[in-house]
Amino acid sequence: MENERIKWPDDARCAVMLSFDVDGETTWANGNRGFEGGNNFIRSLSIGQYETRRCIRRILDLLGKYGIKGTFYVPGWVAERNEPMIREIFSHGHELGHHGYTHERFYDKTYEEQAEIIDRSQEIFKKITGKAATGFRTPSGDWAEGTPGLLVKKGFKYSSSMRGDDRPYRTEFEGQESDFIEIPTRWELDDYVQMAYNLYPAEPVGQDRISGYDNVLDNFIREFDGYYRYGLCCAFMMHPQVIGTPGRILLLERLIRHIQSHPDVWIATGEQIADWWRENY
Ligand SMILES: [Zn+2]
Repeated sequence: MENERIKWPDDARCAVMLSFDVDGETTWANGNRGFEGGNNFIRSLSIGQYETRRCIRRILDLLGKYGIKGTFYVPGWVAERNEPMIREIFSHGHELGHHGYTHERFYDKTYEEQAEIIDRSQEIFKKITGKAATGFRTPSGDWAEGTPGLLVKKGFKYSSSMRGDDRPYRTEFEGQESDFIEIPTRWELDDYVQMAYNLYPAEPVGQDRISGYDNVLDNFIREFDGYYRYGLCCAFMMHPQVIGTPGRILLLERLIRHIQSHPDVWIATGEQIADWWRENY
């Protein structure tokens, strides 16, 4: 099916997923990306606090205004400290996905440690919303060899963690395709690599970012236009602490307006896209 046109629901030409990683303080606090002693950097932590205090509200308002259901991947640590926010995201019909407990790197965890992290956050979701997550986005880059198998065992239906295609695909186990769907995203669809910035600890490490917003919007629009042309699955990966600021939320609104100016685009959650793919491909 390499060049075959993908059939999307309602004869849509392409699929779009708007996903938001609600990392909060976790990416600044736990030594991610080598931020040793992250808890000592009070100002960095406050970027994560700003996310839950201000940015989520703007994202929810924007999605509501355009009638879009998004997918929010939330570390359990953030969820249990922001229960009203989680309830609100859920009650608006958006999807909540698993994103570790404190945004741990999975690749250097044992199987048992990974299982513990997965269970811990699932319990938090169940307690707050009554529903466990069915989707998973690996925090901090990579997962370990056994992670996808463990996710299947734990009842997950899909992941949006990898970069291996511009369409969903079935994850292979021992050479066999499975029902566990991967919805890959790409760095060029990620607001973080284009705009996230902190002076100290340095983010990005070599410094020199806060890209021009028109340029970033142009990147996103060109990417969408390409996915639309070829009929693919355009999975944007946003971070409310990056895209939810007063200036950048306007960038996201322009992007949404551009996407919605095409009548034949299926904007869906990760779970909906994974279910569709499993049934049809
Ligand atoms: Zn994250």
